[in-house]
Amino acid sequence: MGSKLSVNNHRADIIGLTYIYPVLSRRAGGLSIGINFNTNNTCNWRCVYCQVPNLSIGAAPDIDFELLAKELRLFLDDVLHGDFYDRFEVDADKRVIKDIAIAGNGEPTTLKEFARAVGLIGQIATEAGVFPSSDYVLISNGSLIHLPRVQEGLRVLNEYHGQVWFKFDSATEEGRRLVNNSTQSCQAAVENLLVASQLCPTKLQTCLFDFAGRGLPDTEKQAYLEVLKQVWEHSNVRRIMLYTIARPSAQPEAGQLAKLPADILEAFAGEIRELGFEVTVSV
Ligand code: SF4
Repeated sequence: MGSKLSVNNHRADIIGLTYIYPVLSRRAGGLSIGINFNTNNTCNWRCVYCQVPNLSIGAAPDIDFELLAKELRLFLDDVLHGDFYDRFEVDADKRVIKDIAIAGNGEPTTLKEFARAVGLIGQIATEAGVFPSSDYVLISNGSLIHLPRVQEGLRVLNEYHGQVWFKFDSATEEGRRLVNNSTQSCQAAVENLLVASQLCPTKLQTCLFDFAGRGLPDTEKQAYLEVLKQVWEHSNVRRIMLYTIARPSAQPEAGQLAKLPADILEAFAGEIRELGFEVTVSV
């Protein structure tokens, strides 16, 4: 009680719930309600900048739907009709629910009953009057979108006017292994991106940073721009979010990572804009 929920306070357990955590997001300019399916801190990737502590390779455990529903109803009621904003001393101009974001401590699409969970959240947020005025976002590494059960989830997300933020940090096989510890090929990732964009509005999110002093290599930039040309031609994806690391990584590589300067990100954003894309940069 009386804790200040600031943009720097991302503690998932601040309200003591299993699946729900509030984030005051600089990106969103208000309250973002995070939903975490990966309560066991598992992901099918291991990005070197990942902030999830004790991250292990794996999938989200089966979900307790009753508990998820109960927590979401209670939390929305607290925010909309209770004293949540006062208890956490939220600034007056941030007292708005900007989005409900399925994100959390791992890759959410590893959840077996992913589509059912997306539908339940959509239904409860609609009943509470949060949707459609607030956004419904899935933050995903996109690696499982070839699976029918994940595609079903994106169809449900689309029914609630949701959107996918698709992680795409590198367009080279070497970069994807180095940064994401992913063995999925770049071509497979692009195919998944195209599928996602056919099912639901989709944006790219790209984290760029200095890893062991290599900066932003020209080979990475050129490969990324080449892939974007394909994306432009074959999909309706038009928006890209470039960002750099903001908080410490919980991975062993943490000491080798540094933010990229704003001017480097802005210069690269300029090159991407020349292809026609709308690009936001956050540093
Ligand atoms: S995809 Fe997300 S949760 Fe998974 S390792 Fe990367 S940053 Fe962490």
